[in-house]
Amino acid sequence: MDCLFCKVVEGQIPAKKIYEDDQVLAFHDINPQAPVHFLVIPKRHIATLNDLTADDSALVGHMVYTGQRLANELGCTEGFRTVFNCNEQGGQTVYHIHLHVLGQRQLVWPPG
Ligand code: 5GP
Repeated sequence: MDCLFCKVVEGQIPAKKIYEDDQVLAFHDINPQAPVHFLVIPKRHIATLNDLTADDSALVGHMVYTGQRLANELGCTEGFRTVFNCNEQGGQTVYHIHLHVLGQRQLVWPPG
């Protein structure tokens, strides 16, 4: 399967890893939009949020918890933002679900 983030999981594309376990991998975004900007991905390929099933609920919860834990470990003590983009209009460019975690600057709302 020609998936960029599957290649990161398999070590075929280098990434600045922050954390991994049997289910998820977290690594710094290559084009950071904040002083802290990392991605949490499932090791298993899931293309978009629309492909989730009820069986994936615990996995997605683990992704969010991992993002929260790492954001705090990386010093986002004043707050942070989590984002899942879904499909073209949602701004998704890599079709393997990923949780963006951004922090250490004042973020504005609404996003672009
Ligand atoms: P999306 O637009 O799909 O929500 O986010 C994809 C994210 O992946 C972008 O923030 C982009 O900078 C990041 N990205 C794309 N290619 C790579 C890569 O090869 N390595 C890393 N670390 N991040 C990537």
